[in-house]
Amino acid sequence: MKADLFDQRRLLELQAVDTGLTQLAQRRRKLEADTALDDARRHSQALADRAASLTGDIADLERDIKRIEQEVELVSKRAAADRERMGSGAASPKELEGLQSELESLARRQGTLEDDELEYMERREGLEGQLETLRGQTAEAESAIASAEADRARAMSEIEAETLDAEGDRRALTIAIPDRLVELYERIHAKQPIAAAELVGRRCGSCRIEKSPADMQPIKAAPIDEVLRCEECGCVLIRTELPGAGPARPASEDELKKYNS
Ligand SMILES: [Zn+2]
Repeated sequence: MKADLFDQRRLLELQAVDTGLTQLAQRRRKLEADTALDDARRHSQALADRAASLTGDIADLERDIKRIEQEVELVSKRAAADRERMGSGAASPKELEGLQSELESLARRQGTLEDDELEYMERREGLEGQLETLRGQTAEAESAIASAEADRARAMSEIEAETLDAEGDRRALTIAIPDRLVELYERIHAKQPIAAAELVGRRCGSCRIEKSPADMQPIKAAPIDEVLRCEECGCVLIRTELPGAGPARPASEDELKKYNS
């Protein structure tokens, strides 16, 4: 196949765009596979679950405390009534004895209830302290998640914008480069990531294999507009050390000497 060397060289631009697109796709996959955000979400959920369970325990304790307070109130009402009856002078000595004994038992009961209440209140205080700590940790975890989500969204939209740009560049290049060259490039590109590479000295820019001087003979002998392929990897080999057509810079004498040597 023959094609203007300037057009051949534009395949390198197309290749650069495609390499960029491959890297963008890799960046996207890496971002999607990143588990840090999921881990942070799970951690935050675990904190929220523990907070919910603590809140339930605190509510249970509050119910217990309320029940004890109601019982204390009943006991002290009963004791007040007993004392009133004792002070009324209307009770018989036997009744007085009974009232006295009941008052003692009520006082013991009240003491036990108050001890229980104190213990429950201390437990509630401890749980409230834990809940406070958990809430702080949850807030930190949520803010870390929010900032990680914002970072990911920003990175993703950067990737999307760069991908759109690159796709636009690709379309423009495939229009600018002659169809036959583009078709050849696409055929190779479907099989391997590098479809066009520069011939640097004797080395293929894709497979990096250095050609023997004997292999270089037909390459050097090939007309400037001959489309060359690397025999090792099959990519289109672009001679950039030759004077090209069009706006490409003419080769210096040194470059020509090097090429012809
Ligand atoms: Zn090669």
